[in-house]
Amino acid sequence: MNTHEIKNKGKQNLNKNKKLFQNLKKFPSSYSDKLFSGLHAEVFDQTDCLRCANCCKTTSPIFREKDIERIAAYLKMSPGNFSEKYLKTDEDYDKVLKQSPCPFLEEDNRCRIYEVRPAACSAYPHTNRKNILGISELTLKNSLICPAVQDILERANKEIQSKRWN
Ligand code: SF4
Ligand code: SF4
Repeated sequence: MNTHEIKNKGKQNLNKNKKLFQNLKKFPSSYSDKLFSGLHAEVFDQTDCLRCANCCKTTSPIFREKDIERIAAYLKMSPGNFSEKYLKTDEDYDKVLKQSPCPFLEEDNRCRIYEVRPAACSAYPHTNRKNILGISELTLKNSLICPAVQDILERANKEIQSKRWN
């Protein structure tokens, strides 16, 4: 799927996925955390991010100070020069990339700074986080970007459906 197709598929399922989160609120939050962490492991076991890279092509991670220091040192730049060259401040006052796709994305979809990439890149798409219901808006937003999130939500929907009839 290309970027456009991923976004369209996410949009088509948006209402269904909003409903999923509403339904999940009827269960203890530990149930959702366990469900998502299991599905995250299952889906990413079968996902080759190097064949996708849609997150790196379309969105920017947030760069915290520690990320900037670490990456700048790796690139043998000063943090100030790194920020000036690659980053801007967004409407939430977060430091994000000036450009998209990410300038560190190589042609073969590898990350040029993989070992020192921002913490937000390592944690993306956050589907194995604690309190998954607390970040449902973020997960819905990521369902327009990440096919693995779409797959996780599809499997979670099936799981909830099966519970209904039992
Ligand atoms: S968008 Fe999702 S599936 Fe694609 S590379 Fe990023 S994390 Fe992997
Ligand atoms: S730093 Fe690396 S992992 Fe993060 S968005 Fe850029 S290419 Fe992707």
